[in-house]
Amino acid sequence: MAWTPKIGPLSLPAKYPGNSYSVVTDGLAQNAHAPPGNGIIAGLPTEELHHLQPHVQRVSWHRGQILLEVAAPLDHFYFPESGMVCTFAVMDDGRTVALAAIGREGFLDVAAFLGAESVPLRAVVVIGGDAIKLSRVELQRILPVSPQLAASLRRYSSSYLAQIATHGACHALHNVPQRVACWLLMVGDRTNSDLLALTHESLSELLGCRRSSVTESLALLVNAGAIRCGRGQIGVLDHERLAQQACECYEAISK
Ligand SMILES: [Zn+2]
Repeated sequence: MAWTPKIGPLSLPAKYPGNSYSVVTDGLAQNAHAPPGNGIIAGLPTEELHHLQPHVQRVSWHRGQILLEVAAPLDHFYFPESGMVCTFAVMDDGRTVALAAIGREGFLDVAAFLGAESVPLRAVVVIGGDAIKLSRVELQRILPVSPQLAASLRRYSSSYLAQIATHGACHALHNVPQRVACWLLMVGDRTNSDLLALTHESLSELLGCRRSSVTESLALLVNAGAIRCGRGQIGVLDHERLAQQACECYEAISK
């Protein structure tokens, strides 16, 4: 069966106050007719793809785009095909810390799937890419005739909640260099790339720490021969060395 989702609307970026994230609208996907790149949707049987296809849009995301805002209604689900989204806790003073990273293996938002109307979290595109977008109403309509999709969403929800719990412990117990190494490995897994479109600033927002601490941690990893740093990107040179510098949380989240 050909996979031909509708193409999402092209919208102009809009400014958003609070931090470096500023773009809040979906863009036009370039590869509208490519096979589904999201693991959950790609794994569906033909019959379930047939149920899903008339209701989805393929959209393009830009770094900094806010997909869900704190306490806003959860109206849509997103299935990343490339790039990476993170959910963040947001403090009153604007500081953030990432709670989970979502790539092509997952979907957004687990809380909506579990029945929540809103969540006290912000979901932001950290690395741009494409995604499949589906309204909450349509997902609820097709779930009863899509048992594989329902099972996959339940399975991912469990791992997502475990990821949030692990990040909470990690933030409290592990040092910044360990956490930087852990995040670089996770981002590489989710984007399936050794070239990570991350800046010192975006890492500091993910880890909820000072940018200077990120810079010092990256220098340690460069000296260990694990990574190299370029302009706006970080290259992973040696996974084994990087894993040696990371805390145990990477293994826990990867299971
Ligand atoms: Zn950790």
